[in-house]
Amino acid sequence: MVTTHNLGFPRIGRQRELKFALEAYWQGESTLAELIAAASNVRQTNWQHQAALDFIPVGDFSFYDHVLDMTFLLSNLPERVKGFDGHELDNYFRLARGRSQQTNHPHHECCSGVRAGEMTKWFDTNYHYIVPEFSHSTTFQLNPSRIINFIQEAKASHSRIKPVIIGPVTYLALGKAKDDTNKLDLLTKLLPVYGELLELFIENGIEWVQIDEPILVTELDSQWQHAFNTAYHHLKFCKINILIASYFGQLKDNLYLATNLPVAGLHIDVSDNQSEIQPVINLLAPHKILSLGVISGRNIWRSDLTAILDWLEPIANQLKERLWIAPSCSLLHVPVDLANEDKMDKEIRTWLSFAIQKIEEISLLGSAINQGRGTLQDQLNKNKAIIETRRSSARVNNHQVQERVKAIHSNMGQRKNPHSIRVTKQQALLQLPVFPTTTIGSFPQTKEIRSTRNKYKSGIVSFTDYSQAMKSEIERCVREQESIGLDVLVHGEAERNDMVEYFGEQLNGYVFSQAGWVQSYGSRCVKPPIIYGDISREKAMTVDWTVYAQSLTKKPMKGMLTGPVTMLNWSFVRDDQPRSTTCKQLSLALRDEVLDLERAGIKVIQIDEAALREGLPLRQELWQDYLRWAVECFRITANGVEDETQIHTHMCYSEFNDIIEAVAQMDADVITIETSRSDMELLEAFEHFNYPNHIGPGVYDIHTPNIPNSQEIKQLMEKAAQRIPVQHLWVNPDCGLKTRRWDEVIPALENMMKAAYELRESIVS
Ligand code: GLN
Ligand code: ZN
Repeated sequence: MVTTHNLGFPRIGRQRELKFALEAYWQGESTLAELIAAASNVRQTNWQHQAALDFIPVGDFSFYDHVLDMTFLLSNLPERVKGFDGHELDNYFRLARGRSQQTNHPHHECCSGVRAGEMTKWFDTNYHYIVPEFSHSTTFQLNPSRIINFIQEAKASHSRIKPVIIGPVTYLALGKAKDDTNKLDLLTKLLPVYGELLELFIENGIEWVQIDEPILVTELDSQWQHAFNTAYHHLKFCKINILIASYFGQLKDNLYLATNLPVAGLHIDVSDNQSEIQPVINLLAPHKILSLGVISGRNIWRSDLTAILDWLEPIANQLKERLWIAPSCSLLHVPVDLANEDKMDKEIRTWLSFAIQKIEEISLLGSAINQGRGTLQDQLNKNKAIIETRRSSARVNNHQVQERVKAIHSNMGQRKNPHSIRVTKQQALLQLPVFPTTTIGSFPQTKEIRSTRNKYKSGIVSFTDYSQAMKSEIERCVREQESIGLDVLVHGEAERNDMVEYFGEQLNGYVFSQAGWVQSYGSRCVKPPIIYGDISREKAMTVDWTVYAQSLTKKPMKGMLTGPVTMLNWSFVRDDQPRSTTCKQLSLALRDEVLDLERAGIKVIQIDEAALREGLPLRQELWQDYLRWAVECFRITANGVEDETQIHTHMCYSEFNDIIEAVAQMDADVITIETSRSDMELLEAFEHFNYPNHIGPGVYDIHTPNIPNSQEIKQLMEKAAQRIPVQHLWVNPDCGLKTRRWDEVIPALENMMKAAYELRESIVS
């Protein structure tokens, strides 16, 4: 008998119930009790959806982030959030967002904000976690009430539950030492707390615990490998079955290590590649169970169940009771339910599978193995027919696009002259002051904007009325920016609900879900479009709005595009051709847009590559290949312009050390990056590498409602100026402002301008 289970379920809710409950609470529009009740409903519903499985996960639910949950579970709180009274959840939100709730004085600079925890991407996904902080004074203490409450809650209605926690080694690896602490030295303090937690699980009648150690699929040096042995040799004395879960790739060099840890079971990701199964079985002691992640937990394609059964059945015969099956990783990274998609193209819809459907797939595979395929022949035949239709569909292939990709030539990605020459020509045209100021693109998206856009989409508002509303919003944005005094303006992106969806909707080869939301961080969700076929552009996508915005001002208006690599990395992509081929198709379509903007008189064009870094393969041995084609794609998009056209790019992160050379090769005239939360730490990259072009290190953390004062901003810029020539520096926020409110954005940008004026003066004097 095979055992079916799941590693984690999306926690945002089928209709994003958690998002709305969180935001209402943060805005002071609902009570904590209402938030807690809404969260409990989401958990109950999630468990019901998984009821057909042998084990349901518990502890995968989070009010904001599961890494932050571990930080609270271990009481690893930074000093700045210690000592607050009130409910623990408020303190949790304080560390997540810089404050717990909206105060009555949102633009008062001193109100109860603290610096929010740094946020970074979870492995190679678009999920962001709050980075644990470590120092010499770090101590750990078990604070289990949250997870124990969830366990008791689950036990009321489900018999077999499996708590999910992040393993001690991965937790340390994901965190950051704030001083010269060696993180691994903390392991001996950490393990007794894990031990206590496991004992508590036993007291609560738990048989199996899933301990996630995804860093097992990354390159580990001998110290970290040793840490695995230390950790699990310590925990083996607990009388509970530990399932170590690795995911997001293969074990490779860690295969021997993982199979020999003294635990009861190992989960491995075999959704893309089954070559590690036999080596793992050969090394796994005969009392251990093997859990196989047989379908992808991260993409949205319906699985070919017959093909899976063909290789899985012999393994099931071999392992018998020792085989478990599950999706490869937590389903956190896929939308909840395909049944929400009643407006999607019917045929394409049959090709897809979201979280609830993936659970059905696992449960079907389990039944096929346990009862024999014969009993499920109808369902398997239906699945097979769908897989074959997709494979041979004419809707997927566009000959012209394929030919254009083949004809790509390296000089398409080459600017006419080097940056040193371009910069003079651009300056002659743009006449910018030193420390030029700009923003990253979007301005606050008010309720009215959203509602007009939605009404237009659903046909309630005509194009004329919609266009009028957007134009007046653009005008408002331009006027605000002029009155603040910014140098390079933006139109504000009111017409865009999402930076990828907006373009995807206008490109062939993309399909959209109505409610395919995936959590990005906290209450923020994205709705990744789905690339199912070859990509082509029918007509200009941004030119009209940008030209209109430029007509309102004498200052340069920055055209705003999403780059090919980000389009790729933030979409669900085809699993039937290499990612690089899909990316090249995107780069050609976007190149046409860049050239159209230039032709329409736009002198500054920003091509956002917010997600370039997160596409890095987890294993460094694969980085060069990825960076080569990713940079090539950016260059194809950006570099067909004249010297005078100033190309900006924007990246949403601060870790540049390892990719700085590739970033430089993109040859954007200006790059804006996120830095304020990490205290300009990224600039370390610039110590060893002379970044040739211009750069705007973000000085306003837009992920929190806190408003930086001009002194803080000035200090950040002064810090930047220690590493980068002042003539190369721009002053700008960390990222787009769409999630903020006007009454936060205006004072923050005013403070930013004030800092820029002072910096300019300090240079002159
Ligand atoms: N131009 C986009 C915006 O301002 C960039 C967002 C991003 O980098 N994530 O919204
Ligand atoms: Zn950004």
